[in-house]
Amino acid sequence: LGLDSWRKLGQGVVDFVADYYRYLHRTDTPVMSAAQPGFLRAVLPTAPPERGERLEAVLHDVRTHIIPGLSHWQSPRFFAYFPMNTRHVVASMLADILVSGFGVLAFQWLSSPACTELEQISLEWLAQLLDLPPCFRAAAPAAAAVLPGSASEAVLVALVAARARALEGRPPEDATRLVAYATDQTHSCLAKACLVTGVRHVRVLSTHAARQFAMEAAALEEAVRRDAAAGLLPCFVCATVGTTSSCAVDPVGEVAQVAARHGLWLNVDAAWAGAFAVLPDQRELYFGGLEGADSLDLNPHKGLLTGWECSALYVKDARWVKKALTPGVPEAYLQDKCGGTATSRGTDGSCAADSGGGGGGSGLAAGPAEGREEQQEEGKEDAAAGPGAGSSDGTSGSGSGSTAAAAGGPARLPAVPVDFKDLDVPLGHGRFRGLRLWFVLRLYGAEGLRRLMRHRLLLQDFLADMVLEDPRFELVLGAPPRFGLVCFRLRGSDAANAALLDSVNASGAAFMSHTTLAGRYVVRCAIGGTWTQGRHVEAAWRAVQRCATGVLQEAAG
Ligand code: PLP
Repeated sequence: LGLDSWRKLGQGVVDFVADYYRYLHRTDTPVMSAAQPGFLRAVLPTAPPERGERLEAVLHDVRTHIIPGLSHWQSPRFFAYFPMNTRHVVASMLADILVSGFGVLAFQWLSSPACTELEQISLEWLAQLLDLPPCFRAAAPAAAAVLPGSASEAVLVALVAARARALEGRPPEDATRLVAYATDQTHSCLAKACLVTGVRHVRVLSTHAARQFAMEAAALEEAVRRDAAAGLLPCFVCATVGTTSSCAVDPVGEVAQVAARHGLWLNVDAAWAGAFAVLPDQRELYFGGLEGADSLDLNPHKGLLTGWECSALYVKDARWVKKALTPGVPEAYLQDKCGGTATSRGTDGSCAADSGGGGGGSGLAAGPAEGREEQQEEGKEDAAAGPGAGSSDGTSGSGSGSTAAAAGGPARLPAVPVDFKDLDVPLGHGRFRGLRLWFVLRLYGAEGLRRLMRHRLLLQDFLADMVLEDPRFELVLGAPPRFGLVCFRLRGSDAANAALLDSVNASGAAFMSHTTLAGRYVVRCAIGGTWTQGRHVEAAWRAVQRCATGVLQEAAG
């Protein structure tokens, strides 16, 4: 394929995606796919073609067969799970094109220096935006940060580090005595990480509506003491800020005190809610005590527009991660350092890389000049969440200098290259995630992201008010609307609520999901789509009300 043909095909695919987004904005586009299991097998050939086909033929099948089988996560009426954003025109998706085009990996600094250093820079910018404590910032000598693919991987890395620390100086068989602590609201990725790492004992502490489903530090203390007295090795506790079910917030400061008393590694999982820490009032309300944690994970791919897969893990003392993830006998090729040989590295493992400056233009210096066409078409309200506020081209400044100032001034990263293979499970360490995050941070800017998060909270309150106005519904006790999530119930049986959710999703008007809180079926409406505006929330709520009328009539016989 010649480069000119490739260029044309690529433009065709961008047009295809733009048409897809237009399709998502039609009010008659069902959000949840109505496909039945096996639908795709029934229409696609059972064997691959002998000869390569034309792109048009492939795209035709995508349009005809694949898209009807998608539940549309980027629809403005998607309210299920926690939304995963790919802001279409700027930021992540354009970065994704570059990422695929570059096709580089950053398992070690040498393998693609900019890839490694941009990840470090993006993580430090993000740390500034979230106002993370100094112990997690680049200037802290022992700290490290990394962009794993998912929160599940981040929690796994935190757990193996905790395991390494707990077993230091002990016989390997002590691993069978390790204990991890969580609550009945903690995401199952912790239980999975325990399975993978062989941590056999997992204590699941109960939560209660009266305490808004948060971990109770006293219960943790008691469980740890009991286990220690029984000869076990308490090792790890996972506190959550913004649980998946109801966005409950564990008291990080209190949990940190217990963890410190008993030598537990404290990981704070803020996979969804972490993005809200860009708002100073949310930071103060919900993220206190972070300095007492050993690690923190959050998902830019959920709340911060980077698109799947881009999680962030901040670790206070990265020695333990490196110890846990560095095999005893690394292959020779992985020992190459800056300058090409292992010996060019200093005794502290660093080498004199110049991380500042630029060094030579690429000759490709065309900035992204995004049109605002879609926003003009799809509603002016979107100004609340748009990138590059005040500029017509989607960029917020004239170059990286302005962004560096916006991201917190003069803090410099130490010129110590990191090898990300030592901080992550896969050797290849993902596809240039630092570039994707950096695009988002530059094109939105701190102010744009704060506006986006504020807008989500406004929509959340808008929905909660509508729920309260209809006497047939209730907000769920112990689960106040938070971080864009509204948990509500039809006053009635669990079966009625399940029928309501089925009916809403089958209507195609919106896609929501459910959870169980205090043993009761609860509908979750998670607001966080970057396209989602007040009119979409209102339309979804009207659909819920209509479906409730149907469910109640049916129940009445
Ligand atoms: N932790 C929390 C609080 C979550 O809500 C989720 C997913 O929604 C996860 C962890 C797992 O995230 P991931 O899919 O990135 O592994």
